Amino acid sequence: MTKTTEGRKRILSGMRPTGRLHLGNLVGALANWRDLQDDYECFFMIADYHALMSEYEAPAKIAANAREVLLDFVACGLDPVRSVIFRQSEVPQHAELHLILSCYTPIGWLERNPTYKEQMRELTTRDIHNYAFLGYPVLQAADIVVYRAHCVPVGEDQLPHLELTRELVRRFNNLVGEDALVEPHAKLTASPRLLGTDRRKMSKSYGNQIDIADDPDTIRKKVMSMITDPKRIRRNDPGHPDECNVCDWYKTFSPGEADEVARKCREALWGCTDCKSRLAEVLIAYLAEPHRRRQELEADPDRLHRILADGGERARAVAADTLADIKRLTGLGAM
Ligand code: ATP
Ligand code: MG
Repeated sequence: MTKTTEGRKRILSGMRPTGRLHLGNLVGALANWRDLQDDYECFFMIADYHALMSEYEAPAKIAANAREVLLDFVACGLDPVRSVIFRQSEVPQHAELHLILSCYTPIGWLERNPTYKEQMRELTTRDIHNYAFLGYPVLQAADIVVYRAHCVPVGEDQLPHLELTRELVRRFNNLVGEDALVEPHAKLTASPRLLGTDRRKMSKSYGNQIDIADDPDTIRKKVMSMITDPKRIRRNDPGHPDECNVCDWYKTFSPGEADEVARKCREALWGCTDCKSRLAEVLIAYLAEPHRRRQELEADPDRLHRILADGGERARAVAADTLADIKRLTGLGAM
């Protein structure tokens, strides 16, 4: 397997700028990404083309959201010096490779994509019957292979996506008769699936999230509104911590006290209000460092611009190199 010039394997990962990032994004993705920086050469992408696919009717917010995502990235410890942090639309090779790869993608592969079918059913607030949305796995493949990334950090549920990229790479290499594209591997990361304040999966689209950037008062308010153990009606009733979302959050955000919290709940030594008040303070402490970094960065817009300018330049250099090879192999190179 090829390695990068620095000898470390390369990783590509990204987020769609559809809003501020939340605690689910932090524990489910960003915390892992932050740690991966020690062992991998990381490319972290603000996937604004992917946002446009579903937000094209009201695209004005995409730029502002891209700024929020950048702030959240850096606030949570993604390091713009060690890693390449960039905005997808500032690297035109993503779009170019997307078009080339689309020539090699059988439509049936896209129509069979289970996530596509699910989104078509579930996403009722947006009209995603557009040409681009059907083909988003092709753009995703381009995102990864344009950097010749070796690995992509994914949860188990995202494995089918990567499989399509891998199939497409094999088909392309086969047809052009050269191993021009690198087949990426899944870097399976064990990450908790955080439920939101209403006990459904925490998600921007459900409005049940606590944002990384929420101030302490907002955090307190949201935590106090969390649904707890539905079977515990009176303060003196024994609770069922295994069925309570609030107790569960302690395991993620303050594992050292999770057992004690569960005992106090089970034995009705404290009520849900006590449990939530304490959890709010735990979260405020958990987010103190990201908040400090975020504020520092918000006060320095020049630095924000420099991060993206520098990341874009580094990303384009790698992507241009890949594209030169691909164009040569597909008859689009020099005559
Ligand atoms: P949307 O509502 O637009 O789908 P989202 O809030 O669900 O947004 P995604 O963009 O779908 O967030 O996910 C970005 C990353 O964050 C993915 O790696 C995903 O696995 C992770 N993630 C999102 N929500 C959670 C969650 N509740 N728990 C753990 N990880 C999550
Ligand atoms: Mg989602």
